Amino acid sequence: MSDPALEAVDVTRTYRMEGVEVDALRGVSLRIDAGEFVAIVGPSGSGKSTLMHLLGCLDRPTSGALRIGGREVARLSEGELAELRNARVGFVFQSFHLLARTSARDNVALPLVYRGVPRGERRRRAARALTTVGLGHRLGHRPGQLSGGEQQRVAIARALVGEPRVVLADEPTGNLDTRTGHEVMDLLERLNAEQGVAVVLVTHEPDVAERARRRIHIRDGRVERDVS
Ligand code: ADP
Repeated sequence: MSDPALEAVDVTRTYRMEGVEVDALRGVSLRIDAGEFVAIVGPSGSGKSTLMHLLGCLDRPTSGALRIGGREVARLSEGELAELRNARVGFVFQSFHLLARTSARDNVALPLVYRGVPRGERRRRAARALTTVGLGHRLGHRPGQLSGGEQQRVAIARALVGEPRVVLADEPTGNLDTRTGHEVMDLLERLNAEQGVAVVLVTHEPDVAERARRRIHIRDGRVERDVS
């Protein structure tokens, strides 16, 4: 547990499109330790999503160092990076990103397909993850047969099924009404407390950010404040 779960050292990310450069991140350093509960806040366009993509190994920095579980991302091949992402990180998105024609159980089991887990075990682990998020009675439901809050809980079960060290959630309550949003936050807090999984979420909502134990304020591609 001595390695930080995630560490960025003077990370920049410049997007290049048709000769135009956008400096989305201009030198971000931060570390996130095992078991933390962190909110990333800041104005639209300040670089929050870019930072989340980097922390989740969905993208690589233009310069600076990024370490996941103590391993330097720049030194990894695409295959190794995908493997590290699959083993270490779970993702939750604002719009759930569930497969519409697929049952809750098979949606949750999907990350295990990529890890080569046999079918029977996938089904058992998916059912267990859905039970953990309070949806043990909805295994066969498709996303369209579930409420928004239930769909987000399915997405959280999918993020957890691989037993990651970190869950990265980009506006996880953004498409939910206030009460349902708080229920999703209750769930993330419980998983953080009981399973020790670190949670890093982006939010625009002050009352959601207020519930995190640490808030990282991003502005113009830099960390403006980091408050615990
Ligand atoms: P936030 O999540 O805080 O709204 P983003 O990380 O999405 O901010 O964007 C930061 C900046 O980078 C913005 O100016 C945005 O327009 C730009 N940007 C984001 N993604 C891309 C991309 N794929 N190509 C070019 N520019 C991008």
